[in-house]
Amino acid sequence: KAIGIDAGGTLTKVAYFNEQNELVLETFQSSDLLSVKNWITNQPNIQDIGVTGGRTEQLLEVIQAMKSVHYIVEFEATLKGVHFLLDKEGYAFGRSIVTNIGTGTSIHYMEGNTHSRVGGTGIGGGTLIGLSALTTGVTDYHDIREMARNGNRSMIDLLVKDIYQGMNTPIDGQLTASNFGKVGITKSVEHPAEDIIATVQGLVGEVITTLSIQYAEEKNVEHIVYIGSTLSNNEHLATVIANYTRRKNHTPVLVNDHGFSGAIGALLNI
Ligand code: ATP
Ligand code: MG
Repeated sequence: KAIGIDAGGTLTKVAYFNEQNELVLETFQSSDLLSVKNWITNQPNIQDIGVTGGRTEQLLEVIQAMKSVHYIVEFEATLKGVHFLLDKEGYAFGRSIVTNIGTGTSIHYMEGNTHSRVGGTGIGGGTLIGLSALTTGVTDYHDIREMARNGNRSMIDLLVKDIYQGMNTPIDGQLTASNFGKVGITKSVEHPAEDIIATVQGLVGEVITTLSIQYAEEKNVEHIVYIGSTLSNNEHLATVIANYTRRKNHTPVLVNDHGFSGAIGALLNI
């Protein structure tokens, strides 16, 4: 049997096909690579391991290359995985922007089987956790996700329509004029942690979307494929990103299992 592993800055993702040829996916903390080793040890007859991601060296040290190891560079693996997932769901657009929201964010242009990295930003999943923790004291990823769901950004974010009161707005009034911008120009009130975290998610999602759209316009493509575990089970963030992308006249694409693109690419590379 063969498995693919993507050892990222925060999470290590594993993908393989079982005997029924179904894709099976597992996640581990990259801070605990020993649990990856233990998991591998308990799997019957693994012959080949495909590896990718920034933590590959540390992973290989821990698993001590027990089997035949096949390395593939991260961007190559990620795009290979994205191709597989898009094909599986029947998408057929030839050109797109692919935005990988991991610990940090990496943005790629994909055309057929070729791709190039066009840019990125340090605003990513790590920012979401770090800023939420520093502003509210909540550090657990699952808590952050749940609290964002119940949060309201309207007392913290300043929208274009809030500035242009009673006038026609020069651009879409529902766009954010200033993330967190209402706080500095209104009487100070206590904001619930849920509202602060929802607003952090808004900031992270909108920066990433705005940047992705600029590349989409430069390359003249309609579709932006958003991937990375930061979006996994995070409906609030996915909604921010999808709505903001549509509001700016592009088409967001969210595929299942997108967080495992790198691991799937490493598996397919064997
Ligand atoms: P990079 O690609 O930048 O090296 P990575 O591959 O580890 O990082 P992902 O696994 O795609 O990145 O996403 C990591 C982000 O996903 C975290 O920053 C966090 O916001 C979110 N996340 C999702 N599930 C978890 C979890 N169980 N524990 C911690 N963070 C999680
Ligand atoms: Mg990654």
